[in-house]
Amino acid sequence: MNQRREDTVTGPPAAIVWFRRDLRLADNPALRAARDAGMRIVPVYIHAHEEETPWAPGGASRWWLHHSLAALDRDLRRHGSGLVIRRGPSLEALRRLARETGAGAVHWNRLYEPAAIARDGAIKQTLRQDGLDAHSHNAALLFEPWALQTQSGGPYRVFTPFWKACLGLGLAENAAPPPEALALMAAESESLNTLGLLPQRPWADAFADHWQPGERGAQDALATFLDRAAADYAAGRDLPSERATSRLSPHLHFGEIGPRQIAAAAQAHMARSTDRGTFSGLETFLRELGWREFAHHLLFHFPQTPERSLDARFEAFPWTRDHASRLEAWQRGRTGIPLVDAGMRELWHTGWMHNRVRMVVASFLTKNLLIPWQAGARWFWDTLLDADLANNTLGWQWTAGCGADAAPYFRVFNPVLQGRKFDPQGRYLRRWLPELARLPDKDLHAPWEASAQTLQRAGIRLGRDYPNPLVDLAVSRKQALAAYQSIKTA
Ligand code: FAD
Repeated sequence: MNQRREDTVTGPPAAIVWFRRDLRLADNPALRAARDAGMRIVPVYIHAHEEETPWAPGGASRWWLHHSLAALDRDLRRHGSGLVIRRGPSLEALRRLARETGAGAVHWNRLYEPAAIARDGAIKQTLRQDGLDAHSHNAALLFEPWALQTQSGGPYRVFTPFWKACLGLGLAENAAPPPEALALMAAESESLNTLGLLPQRPWADAFADHWQPGERGAQDALATFLDRAAADYAAGRDLPSERATSRLSPHLHFGEIGPRQIAAAAQAHMARSTDRGTFSGLETFLRELGWREFAHHLLFHFPQTPERSLDARFEAFPWTRDHASRLEAWQRGRTGIPLVDAGMRELWHTGWMHNRVRMVVASFLTKNLLIPWQAGARWFWDTLLDADLANNTLGWQWTAGCGADAAPYFRVFNPVLQGRKFDPQGRYLRRWLPELARLPDKDLHAPWEASAQTLQRAGIRLGRDYPNPLVDLAVSRKQALAAYQSIKTA
């Protein structure tokens, strides 16, 4: 990606388009604004300085980011010039680039994490003081978090009325197509490889077997979902062994596709379809996209929640202290509870975990092991390809029972019953726990209940080939409820 500076400050005026997590050309309002103004565009990605962001991307996200930037670079080159890569601090990098290119405007799409909001606000102000036109736009959400308010004027804390309000405003029916032509302007660029985003360990090597980062990969994932899975989504989305969900989450996180594009495509598909299953499947799917909106709404209005429970009573919750070895067993998929271990291994090997299993492993960590939800959220942050501050915070606080519209604390997921219900033939478990594969279906989800003879026939010695359960599920559930009682009335 090394480019020489070729353009001069003569010719049509130039605008910088600062790509962040909007790594696409279609339905990209910042890019469109610069293009519609007749500007030559300097497309830049700035690798933020670590002090700019307390939630720098984790290991898995960095792998995705590397490949997504490479894909964006390829897509831009079809328009004549590649992506300019610079290093932060972002403000200095933008000012320098504006000086070098003579750019008179800077456009970007908004981020909604508290630190990014503070940084971007300060950058906008300084650039304007410098005499530049600085504009931010919305590429990431269906609705701005401040555009929706309850009747009494505050933010929503309950999902159903929130989603009703969204539907009342109307979901996008159209999204801007990719631009036919862009007038790009080259500038000096670092090489992508010098950012060192790819993990040094072979851990991430297998991710490429499962994913195709970039705008093209996102469009393919959406098309595949609409053609093959949408009709069964309403029921299929709960079955971890099936490929029944869209797997759009990392693409959405990096903005390779936006929710407006997804909503418009889903609604067009519904309009064309005569099949009831497709209709209800896509209604449910859009509702899930609504949870993503809700998560961003909450993060915007309650910016403390990545670190602290929204329900303040949980500040006094008696979490287990010395939990390092138990946390590690959970991280490594060695808890002895099959559905939990299968999920944690799926995460490690593919950088993704099925939503139902995410709820089960999070419930097990926070309720059966009484480990603070923040420890689980941190591990997800580092290992999920779709790690997203808004969605992850909501997912963890919802499951731990301390967030907005959360699962009631006393509802503790039972991993054995969840497994028997949603993976009855054990296909998911056998994929991730080959050491248990020879157990009959009825014992697979709770090998400690199997007879000695069955275990022997399946070639398993518990405690050696597969761990004994870290905790007794019934006993630990009772302990969790007792812990909750201690803060309930606080
Ligand atoms: P689909 O079922 O196809 O849904 C379509 C899209 O809707 C998803 O891509 C996602 O953007 C959104 N969505 C779906 N379910 C949810 C949900 N429950 N909350 C918010 N948005 C949702 N999702 C992330 O994107 N990043 C995270 O870091 C993340 N952490 C989570 C942690 C926990 C403990 C839990 C329980 C859930 C978490 N989720 C997270 C939500 C959800 O598990 C994933 O979005 C989903 O599994 C992604 O798969 P998919 O794209 O096939 O989803």
